[in-house]
Amino acid sequence: MPLADRYGRVATDLRVSLTDRCNLRCSYCMPAEGLDWLPGEDVLTDDEVVRLIRIGVERLGIRDVRFTGGEPLVRRGLVDIVRRTRELDAGLGISLTTNALGLRHTAPALAAAGLDRVNVSLDTIRDDSFNTITRRDRLTDVLAGLEAARDAGLTPVKINAVLLRGINDDQAPELLAWAIDHGYHLRFIEQMPLDAQHDWSRAQMVTAEEILEMLQARFALTPAVEPRGSAPAELFEVDGGPATVGIIASVTRPFCGDCDRVRLTADGQVRNCLFARQESDLRTALRSDATDEEIAQRWVVAMLGKRPGHGIDDPSFLQPDRPMSAIGG
Ligand code: SAM
Ligand code: SF4
Repeated sequence: MPLADRYGRVATDLRVSLTDRCNLRCSYCMPAEGLDWLPGEDVLTDDEVVRLIRIGVERLGIRDVRFTGGEPLVRRGLVDIVRRTRELDAGLGISLTTNALGLRHTAPALAAAGLDRVNVSLDTIRDDSFNTITRRDRLTDVLAGLEAARDAGLTPVKINAVLLRGINDDQAPELLAWAIDHGYHLRFIEQMPLDAQHDWSRAQMVTAEEILEMLQARFALTPAVEPRGSAPAELFEVDGGPATVGIIASVTRPFCGDCDRVRLTADGQVRNCLFARQESDLRTALRSDATDEEIAQRWVVAMLGKRPGHGIDDPSFLQPDRPMSAIGG
């Protein structure tokens, strides 16, 4: 039973948010004071998370699982959840999106448990900009986490960077030079209207076109030959390769037509799109003795309401009620 929508897209890539909590306060994601976290009893247990992943893999054609949050490394059961997910299927792609705080300690255990790769969020390699953006003085920990991921073989280690006007928008070339030097694959992501504070504005956003222009002032970029498929990043070879840089132009060049993703929130709601205005509750089913088949059916139905695009440019666009940290980026 594929997770198909009414526009011919089939979801095979499951993003699982393991918590809405986080130890950073990135300004494009959360307010300084944090948010009202989900009550503990609402959050799926490790067994519930693994059961939903199993249903996704065994019955619904899920081929890739990415753990995210909030910050997934703050979830105590993470290594065990990864191990149990790996036991479901040796061929499954299993990855993690993380701010890398603490990764220096957990990277070897995660790799041993069966994690394939990590994406680390890092917007700057300057201490002052890092402190301004994340409101925490933890750059050294992130850099140590990145190295530990590379040493543990969680490769290719990808870095996701968001540029903010007036804060780090002049740092794209230095970040790329540094990433190439360290063997990390850098991708720039356009800032999206998913912050809890609703501060995003299209006029303030640093666009993919601007980012390319800034990079081209220092590097020769040529479109990479490998087909993009459903990958959101447009890839460019840097100075003739083999190094590459990715640009994820979610806002100015949306890739919704090729979307193969579905999301599960930490409290057991299916979201068929980052920008969905509705969710489908699987937690209640999980906790009321529903069979695997019944849960799978609910999940299939949840996909039918997936809209053709995120509609950020529509005058009627409404930001989703939940911020990125509660959806799972
Ligand atoms: N805490 C982990 C991290 O930062 O990697 C995982 C969750 S975080 C919500 C996932 C990704 O979403 C990060 O790469 C972060 O930069 C990105 N993100 C958060 N808010 C965003 C926004 N408003 N626009 C674009 N990307 C955003
Ligand atoms: Fe935390 Fe990730 Fe949001 Fe930053 S982007 S506040 S690290 S959840």
